[in-house]
Amino acid sequence: MEGNLAQVAEWIINSKRTIVFSGAGLSTESGIPDFRSPGGVWDKYDPEDFYFQNFIASEASREKYWQMATEMWEPIKKAQPNPAHLAIAELERLDKLDCVITQNIDGLHFKAGNSEEKILQLHGTAIFVSCLSCQKRYDRDEIQERIKKGQKAPRCDGCGGLLKPATISFGQSMPEKETQEAYHRSSICDLFIVIGSSLVVQPAASMPLVAKKNGAKLVIINRDPTPYDDMADLVIHGQAGSTMASIVEYVKQKLGIR
Ligand code: NAD
Repeated sequence: MEGNLAQVAEWIINSKRTIVFSGAGLSTESGIPDFRSPGGVWDKYDPEDFYFQNFIASEASREKYWQMATEMWEPIKKAQPNPAHLAIAELERLDKLDCVITQNIDGLHFKAGNSEEKILQLHGTAIFVSCLSCQKRYDRDEIQERIKKGQKAPRCDGCGGLLKPATISFGQSMPEKETQEAYHRSSICDLFIVIGSSLVVQPAASMPLVAKKNGAKLVIINRDPTPYDDMADLVIHGQAGSTMASIVEYVKQKLGIR
């Protein structure tokens, strides 16, 4: 195990473009449940209730969606970055990070200290709410206040359009700019490190494949096996926090930084 951690550190040091690709497993140690682990979101809710077309189609679906979203907002709002987020932010400070491509919507990479230009949020963010018609943005807390006061499926002040957290639901288009940029970066990186993702949600999960096909080394750090383990150069089945903290400690040691 120690040898594997030192090996990843060596690859990071020798890399010109390292990408970190993060999933919900990165944030479970911050108290935010992932989707697929036991006790995760899919043990509690029906994935169909998150489909975008249902949200558009009926007021009853929107009310149900906002009920679930309200319940999920509390842990996200309270969450603090864990050692894995902090280690990734440290990679940026060491000038050893090309970018983070994240499927997460919790904003914890920012809270950990990564800068905005380094983060590509493929699935949007729960920190804001936006109007699906005029795109007006609202602070999430402002809308949660309205829900507390009794609104069940809030609407835009400006145009009366449907308000939805600025996250990408199943069936909703991915953000074009971020997605294109993520594919481009994946195709030119030389080291691609997956942390805490089951690698089953498409199209995000195709990015490690793009990187590998273009000659990058692929490292997968995840508690459970993923469909891409066989093609990875190194797989570490462990906890994101302690694994990333050790890897970055090795990087600093090798660079002679204390
Ligand atoms: P997922 O739930 O499909 O998979 C999470 C993976 O992380 C699992 O394979 C699990 O083994 C692993 N894992 C859990 N805790 C871990 C830990 N402490 N250390 C290492 N590995 C750990 O998540 P996904 O692949 O990101 O895809 C699901 C979708 O979930 C994404 O689209 C994302 O937008 C959304 N999501 C995000 C959050 C968040 O922002 N924190 C939370 C729930 C869901």
